[in-house]
Amino acid sequence: MTTLLLPGSTSPQGQQITLGVMGGGQLGRMFVHAAQAMGYFTAVLDPDPASPAGRVSHYHIQTAYDDEQGLAQLMQRCDAITTEFENVPAPALLTLGAHRPVTPAAACVAVAQDRVKEKALFVACASASGVAPAPYAAIDTAELLAAVPADLLPGILKTSRMGYDGKGQVRVRTRDELAAAWAQLGQVSCVLEKMLPLKAECSVIVARGADGHCVNLPVQHNLHRDGILAVTEVYEQNGPSALDLKAIEAAKFIANHLRYVGVMCVEFFVIDDGSADGALVVNEMAPRPHNSGHHSQNACTVSQFELQVRAMAGLPLVQPQLHSPAVMLNLLGDVWFGADGQPRTPPWEQVLALPGTHLHLYGKLDARRGRKMGHLNITAATPAQAKATALQACALLGLPAF
Ligand code: ATP
Ligand code: MG
Repeated sequence: MTTLLLPGSTSPQGQQITLGVMGGGQLGRMFVHAAQAMGYFTAVLDPDPASPAGRVSHYHIQTAYDDEQGLAQLMQRCDAITTEFENVPAPALLTLGAHRPVTPAAACVAVAQDRVKEKALFVACASASGVAPAPYAAIDTAELLAAVPADLLPGILKTSRMGYDGKGQVRVRTRDELAAAWAQLGQVSCVLEKMLPLKAECSVIVARGADGHCVNLPVQHNLHRDGILAVTEVYEQNGPSALDLKAIEAAKFIANHLRYVGVMCVEFFVIDDGSADGALVVNEMAPRPHNSGHHSQNACTVSQFELQVRAMAGLPLVQPQLHSPAVMLNLLGDVWFGADGQPRTPPWEQVLALPGTHLHLYGKLDARRGRKMGHLNITAATPAQAKATALQACALLGLPAF
């Protein structure tokens, strides 16, 4: 359960109200920024002394995620705790949850940690939510591998645990390729998903309070490159389309079904089923703010990180409104290399001369190709203007047009 933790107040022990987060990556950093803007103290647990969130937090506990002393320190410091990544060891969240309000609950995080559990959840919700996952089979033995139905091929073999940004995934066309891929992945528990004809991808971020009240960000339209989110576009000019409404309803249904408290993201595929709009398929959920929701920092009345703060502090969850059409460009380490392959500082002075550009960098010192270094939000009065500015920024940064 959450208790009301008013901004800028002190606990009965005379300590400044402090919000804690497991994980010190960029999502933790932006959570810390949102919490501090509202007057909270923050604590981050992350072993990396240079972690993006640890560097900006009041307190940084530098231990492993399952270190008993580290967890004890976090509990001692914090009035409520959240997480910024789904691979926090489940026992750590259970330990924390026994002594402090932890949102989302360990049981909800556990579902998102495991594709087999996640798919089972989506199947359980499908008849009521109206949106099913891709046809799939769970594989964790040679017998199950051999028994895979032929119509799941060609497909994508995904490890059940620890996958992100397309890592731990192999595309397979034949049974031989499937067997080789499973061997390559170390014969760990996997899910084989049928390869679907994608028309588009979208995602919905919802925030749900302990009282069951649930709000959503407008539907995000996402473009992935090499399994990594590249561009998000949010242009809700005349209200959500029928497909968008269906995605919002399905995401809320899943959150309610889990009695989820906090911010979560549900990713969807729009597949080509012959109809004009296409059909929705639910892909996966993240028990936290999501890369596709970063536009909300500059384009919405409440950002996804403020929603995370509000949900864990028991503050009102008001329905966010999109006040500007927006584009979000992910800035991977590749942008820190020029066309000649040499390291460079990207031409920020030119990018920031474009009206409506908002730069967010995560304070990572080492720009490696494929590493998420920051993002650029672009807001404008109209979708066409937002897209035109985004394309100008892409040209300056050496990013492909979209
Ligand atoms: P994330 O970083 O979002 O956690 P992930 O590594 O968990 O990513 P998925 O979301 O499962 O991976 O897949 C990454 C991308 O691969 C999807 O966004 C989509 O573009 C493509 N993809 C995944 N599954 C399928 C499928 N069944 N059919 C077609 N394309 C797919
Ligand atoms: Mg994904």
